[in-house]
Amino acid sequence: MKDKKPGRLFIISAPSGTGKSTVIQKLMETRPNLYFSVSATTRPPRPGEKDGLSYRFINHEQFEELIRSDELLEHAEYVGNYYGTPKAPVLEHIGSGNDIILDIDVQGCKQVKKAMPEAVTIFIVPPSLEELERRLRSRGTDSEEKMQKRLERAITELGEKDTYDYVVVNDSVEKAAQEILEIMARQD
Ligand code: ADP
Ligand code: 5GP
Repeated sequence: MKDKKPGRLFIISAPSGTGKSTVIQKLMETRPNLYFSVSATTRPPRPGEKDGLSYRFINHEQFEELIRSDELLEHAEYVGNYYGTPKAPVLEHIGSGNDIILDIDVQGCKQVKKAMPEAVTIFIVPPSLEELERRLRSRGTDSEEKMQKRLERAITELGEKDTYDYVVVNDSVEKAAQEILEIMARQD
């Protein structure tokens, strides 16, 4: 019997507030056989975020235990909280031939790309920094201090966009999602 083709790993990064979660949601609606890697985080849930769907919301002690027991593919600190990718589901999906998306930051992307160089990396950018600030404010989930930190971080991250395989502008959610679907189709 022929060996099953492994699934592909897509890493999507973007400065917080760009609209990455919104675009990924659109991708998942369009391609139901695409899997989303649910990260673990110590950040508190935002309104509407469901434990086990958006993130696994855990405390610092639990996060440190995941690191100690080597259960994370990568992890990073982002504006005062830990975020990490559970290793087992990623390896299982790839092994079963399913494509999987990782929504992780620039530091996490570097770690995964080192371990899995075949990963396809996509960086989503906002149309402008002014629009990014407007989106962060419209989401209304961060304190002024956290929002300023996220904006500062955004400027550093935008400087890394050329280290990614593809850069997509999120002007319209539909257009950005369509562009990413085309990138995915190109890997077939
Ligand atoms: P991220 O996951 O990158 O932090 P979100 O998906 O939470 O960002 O989006 C941040 C805010 O911007 C949300 O209020 C969302 O509705 C809005 N948004 C996302 N994409 C667009 C877009 N193309 N045009 C206008 N607003 C957008
Ligand atoms: P947010 O708090 O806005 O949901 O996420 C903040 C940042 O953390 C975003 O850039 C997001 O992509 C990133 N992030 C989410 N999950 C992970 C993860 O598992 N690992 C890493 N390295 N970054 C993550």
